[in-house]
Amino acid sequence: MNKLTEGMILVSPVFNEQEVVRQFLERAAAIAETTRLRGLVIVDDGSQDKTCDIIADFARTSARPKIRIVRLSRNFGHQNATLAGLTVAEQWAQELTVPFVALIDADLQDRPEHLQDLLTAMENSDVAYAVRRSRAEGPFFKFAANIFYNILSRTSNLKVPRYAGTFSIMRTHVVRAILSNSDNLPYLPGLRAWAGFRQLGVPLDRDARFAGDSRVGFRGLFRLAINAVFAYSNLPIVLMALLGTFTLVISFIAAFTIIVLRLAGFVEVQGTALIIVSIFFSLGVQSIFLLMVAYSIRRLAADAGRRSAFVIMEDKILDE
Ligand code: UDP
Ligand code: MG
Repeated sequence: MNKLTEGMILVSPVFNEQEVVRQFLERAAAIAETTRLRGLVIVDDGSQDKTCDIIADFARTSARPKIRIVRLSRNFGHQNATLAGLTVAEQWAQELTVPFVALIDADLQDRPEHLQDLLTAMENSDVAYAVRRSRAEGPFFKFAANIFYNILSRTSNLKVPRYAGTFSIMRTHVVRAILSNSDNLPYLPGLRAWAGFRQLGVPLDRDARFAGDSRVGFRGLFRLAINAVFAYSNLPIVLMALLGTFTLVISFIAAFTIIVLRLAGFVEVQGTALIIVSIFFSLGVQSIFLLMVAYSIRRLAADAGRRSAFVIMEDKILDE
């Protein structure tokens, strides 16, 4: 293999992962040789615990892979931290003439050893992403995740694959395409699908978190789901169209019925309850529509103002 067809930079965001990060680094180091891992970009997303000390300690004792720590100025969230890591990794990959950039969470839900499977899939592809074949989460979570992935894949104008998270390998031109967006509410699986090129899903199993609870949490995931649906699917607009049409049709039928009843001689048309219910119904529908429009405008305003998705406070390569 020549220089330009091998080598990889791996990006991992961490937020208060002191119970996990050493184990993660050890497993990443163990596959460094076979996967030609040249560099590991760890994005510290505003950790308040010993995560950074543990990383610095590890870098002192282990020469490979080279670790670069990118510290954000505060906690920006999983997706934003990942995007910050991609930005740094893309430049580093150019400097080192490395063709691949990979993303993996540090909580060991995705196995670093699977990077080899993704690399194999890269032979004829520009992107290889993991598709969760099984996941070690509770039934309620699985149910909610199913609904989300179904909505997104059925109503999106892009082919956003189901059951795919951030775990993936991309060629640098795909990373550049992703970074050409100024998305301050990034949803990486969506951005990756948007970028196009040859993409391959690889079915892989997922483990439970190595330690601790989800740092994103259910609220974070819910926010992410709303964000993704508004950014990549037509569902809000389709809902508005369907409900709006439904309300109109009902009102036409009601008007027609009333006219007919009057003409037929039933002067007393009963219907105070119906009127009240209709008023509240249409008010409710209108409020939800307004909410959707307001949410979209807020997104748009933040994007138009080019608000950055993250702020890097420090970026350094840890040398032994
Ligand atoms: N993470 C982060 N910032 C956050 C939340 C999480 O950088 O605000 C990191 C976290 O340390 C982990 C990865 O992003 O490496 C995925 O987070 P988590 O496992 O909590 O997400 P989940 O798997 O529950 O979606
Ligand atoms: Mg996780």
